[in-house]
Amino acid sequence: MKFKFWGVRGSIPTPGPQTIKYGGNTTCIEIRTDRNELIILDAGTGIHALAQTLLRDMPITAHIFITHTHWDHIQGLPFFLPIFFKNNRINLYGGQDPVTDENINRALSAQLQYSYFPIHEAQLKARIDYLTVRPGETVCVGSARITPIILNHPVLNFGYRVDCDGSSLFFTGDFESQINIYQPEDDDYASYRSFLLEKHQEIVAAMQDVDALIVDSSYTDEEYAIRLGWGHGTYRSGIQLATEANAKRLFLTHHEPTRTDADLDLIHRDLLEQHPQFADKLFIAREGLEVCL
Ligand SMILES: [Zn+2]
Ligand SMILES: [Zn+2]
Repeated sequence: MKFKFWGVRGSIPTPGPQTIKYGGNTTCIEIRTDRNELIILDAGTGIHALAQTLLRDMPITAHIFITHTHWDHIQGLPFFLPIFFKNNRINLYGGQDPVTDENINRALSAQLQYSYFPIHEAQLKARIDYLTVRPGETVCVGSARITPIILNHPVLNFGYRVDCDGSSLFFTGDFESQINIYQPEDDDYASYRSFLLEKHQEIVAAMQDVDALIVDSSYTDEEYAIRLGWGHGTYRSGIQLATEANAKRLFLTHHEPTRTDADLDLIHRDLLEQHPQFADKLFIAREGLEVCL
């Protein structure tokens, strides 16, 4: 199995001279199994460039797993060119939102509304199937097994573990470790604390021993202090998760829109200095980076 980053930015695309090295497109990861089955994690703007590479191989079958439906994870879907051509098969996987009760078809149909996009959903020529995933229920795609787990974010968000060809990876989507909503003097503090601990252990177990852990590490500690509850992780939380889960390699992603190439280089250098045990296993995700597992 191998994977490649096509988009590593959070929130909004950030093209320009300051983001040439790491890239300015929003989240998208391509996975290829040894049998060349195509699995895509998230459909941010990075999926457009990925789509260009698929045109010569059409008809294609693509399995797109959406972590959650915030714009930066779905906004490339209407530009995934294979949807416009007959004989392509697109399987779009995602959760059923407990608040709206809607399935993952909303991710595409909402963007193809008359006011927002010139082409109507009925004009898409590919066969598109919408499949609902549920926590802990493994989906088989050819030789790959994909298992979703709910991770804390202000909307339903799945982290996905992919096991295939004797190797494994885990991608968090957007994820902030849950914090205790009670104060130590509150009656419910202790019971909520054990609930959080149990949930944390479940998450670490889902990531256990993966060859590649790809985590939302949007913030520095200073930034996080004033962004509690926004739904994102930090460099520190990413390293903590990788340590607890015994991940072989750690990829930090979902870079802040304001983060320049120079900023990310500096952060990488500092993290390696502070965590020498991560030498050769800690990477800042960048567009075009391809990893064989
Ligand atoms: Zn995001
Ligand atoms: Zn999000």
